[in-house]
Amino acid sequence: MSSLNTPPTPPGRPAPVLLLDGLTRVHGSGATEVHALRGIDLAVYPGELVAVMGPSGSGKSSLLTLAGGLDAPTSGRVVVEGTDLTAASRKQVAALRRRSIGYVFQDYNLIPALTAAENVALPRELDGTGSRTARREAIALLAEMGLEQLADRFPDEMSGGQQQRVAVARALVGDRRLVLADEPTGALDSETGEAVLALLRNRCDAGAACVLVTHEARFASWADRVVSVRDGSVVDITLRPSADPLLTGGTAQ
Ligand code: ADP
Ligand code: MG
Repeated sequence: MSSLNTPPTPPGRPAPVLLLDGLTRVHGSGATEVHALRGIDLAVYPGELVAVMGPSGSGKSSLLTLAGGLDAPTSGRVVVEGTDLTAASRKQVAALRRRSIGYVFQDYNLIPALTAAENVALPRELDGTGSRTARREAIALLAEMGLEQLADRFPDEMSGGQQQRVAVARALVGDRRLVLADEPTGALDSETGEAVLALLRNRCDAGAACVLVTHEARFASWADRVVSVRDGSVVDITLRPSADPLLTGGTAQ
């Protein structure tokens, strides 16, 4: 069923990789009810990097976990590559998450018993890639992150910033069409943060769709669109933030 909230795909434009349609998420009930999301509509197309900004508690992480199939909405639809996650079986959602969706958790969520290379290789191995190929891919991504020497270290032998980059590598391994990143630069110095953003930007330029939660306008300036969220609703969308002097710190005309 299509909803009045769903914007039609303009002629000649490819279908969105991610479509959020009238998305709501209510936690609890009665006096303790929390409306984390109040009707979010968002379409993210191939090649697009969308930054989501907003104060703490505004619903940014909720939006991302629903987009990644890690939580189910109270109402509305999440469509990833044409599959409605809210109507799909658990198995279908799991397969989509393994193959198409890369997720960078705010607190990394690396598996402590696996090395950096094993953490990055895991999603590929789960999806049936041979372990030697998966390791080769993992090492190549770790090298892009400047972490080649740490491939055989365990998470507790790495700094927070290093673990965060391993988490980004794990989300990018394989050809993920949708990359969802929750504050992926939170533990990084500004130079390393820029390098991670450049990698996400490259992925988008190669055709992926990325949604990046960030509170740093500097990082949002890599995005094609900035979506501002307040109290569970989208309050503003800025196109091409790099051209917006308020976001880049330049002087307004
Ligand atoms: P943000 O990432 O922007 O800080 P969140 O999406 O984490 O915001 O949270 C949005 C709102 O939903 C907050 O008020 C938060 O307390 C609430 N919330 C999030 N997850 C849960 C949960 N599992 N149970 C109850 N309330 C929650
Ligand atoms: Mg959050």
